[in-house]
Amino acid sequence: MLANSASTITAKQRGLAQCSTCHLLIAYHPLTHNVCPRCQSLVEQRTTDSIQKCWALTICSLIVAIPANTMPIMTVLYFNKGQPDTILSGIVTMVQLGMYPIAAIVFIASFIVPLAKIVGLFFLLRSLQRKSHLTTKQRTDLYHYIELLGKWSMLDVFVVALMVSLVEIGSVIEIEAGAGATAFAIMVILTMVAANSFDPRLLWDEGENQSEDK
Ligand SMILES: [Zn+2]
Repeated sequence: MLANSASTITAKQRGLAQCSTCHLLIAYHPLTHNVCPRCQSLVEQRTTDSIQKCWALTICSLIVAIPANTMPIMTVLYFNKGQPDTILSGIVTMVQLGMYPIAAIVFIASFIVPLAKIVGLFFLLRSLQRKSHLTTKQRTDLYHYIELLGKWSMLDVFVVALMVSLVEIGSVIEIEAGAGATAFAIMVILTMVAANSFDPRLLWDEGENQSEDK
């Protein structure tokens, strides 16, 4: 395929760079500040220190994941009885109360999605720094999946917020948000910024190096 062949020429090799704000392609001069003539943004061929920033943010999100998963995220009060729940114990409580659809959403959005995102970012970053057996296409797919997951990251924060406001109307079940919810929101924001700081063009550069090695 043409896209995978060693003869593929990147914009960087042609001395061009794309504006990350308005996507205008401009001639890049390495020794000067390159400013986009259309939107006046600073143009870089590759995001500066992208790997370092992404590593730092991914490790931070992993650290924040500890309080997010061990501190109480909410209290489900059933006939005014109940105790603070962490994400996982809250899911068990919801299942016991027969709230299966919400339990499934919270499990996927609060546990599976953030975990998959952090693991995915680790995997992607490691593949750039060590010799990887993955092809450029596979790593690009992984990056797209991480981006796709990001769109669903805040889902369970919405679920908790919605449940708190909706369920408050009835007096049988009451839900209160806990301190773990704050840690969770910080973790989600950190993973979003981490994925955003990753420059996917580094994947194609690595692909070029691999094909040159062969
Ligand atoms: Zn621009």
